[in-house]
Amino acid sequence: MIEENVKRLLKEAGENPFGEKVTVVAAVKTQTVEDINRAIAAGITDIGDNHVQEFRDKYGAIEGAPRRHFIGHLQTNKVKYLIGKTYLYQSVDRMELAEEISKRSERAGIVSDCLIQINIGNEETKGGFDYSDGVAAYKNICALPALKVRGLMAMLPFTDDESVLRPLAKKMRTLYEELRAKDDGIKYLSMGMSGDWKLCTECGSNMIRLGTSIFGPRHYNAIR
Ligand SMILES: *Cc1c(COP(=O)(O)O)cnc(C)c1O
Repeated sequence: MIEENVKRLLKEAGENPFGEKVTVVAAVKTQTVEDINRAIAAGITDIGDNHVQEFRDKYGAIEGAPRRHFIGHLQTNKVKYLIGKTYLYQSVDRMELAEEISKRSERAGIVSDCLIQINIGNEETKGGFDYSDGVAAYKNICALPALKVRGLMAMLPFTDDESVLRPLAKKMRTLYEELRAKDDGIKYLSMGMSGDWKLCTECGSNMIRLGTSIFGPRHYNAIR
């Protein structure tokens, strides 16, 4: 079942209307190592964690060397556990976090890559910079010595109303293009989960984060 889901989703994700390949990141929170490894064996190249403890517990048991993303809210005091092990910090939602990742990366002698998380629906329950602060956040992070911005991340509000979702997704693409025009290191617009990824890629997302559509329901009681 996981294998079929991965094969189907990789095929369906394909390219967005801008001719960009859509990268599928498996959102692995609460999933077992066995199931994560099955998804990787079936073709998943990128996996995303939400919890540092879970990331650390499973780290050594993940097979096939996928690119590791951090996609959840990240406390500054836990950044040290991720340094050098993360392809992309997708959830940089405040300057304090960007500064900590840069400081720890510099100490380790590396430069880390991140996405700027934008709170596109202006929701109190979600983290992220305000849309109108996106360019300023980009400039401030560019001034840090060891953290590079590679794009933007957003979560759309939980609604089926496409007349709400589509304009928000398009606004994200507009900001993405504005940044990309200044900086050719910008290449990811990470937007889209199991329920809304088609709409998101239609509007120009080129990275989607899928959990339940790959693995089925999450195992909250089994793991945490
Ligand atoms: C869990 C999670 C996802 C995936 O959610 P699904 O609806 O299960 O696809 C994507 N992004 C983030 C940040 C998540 O925490």
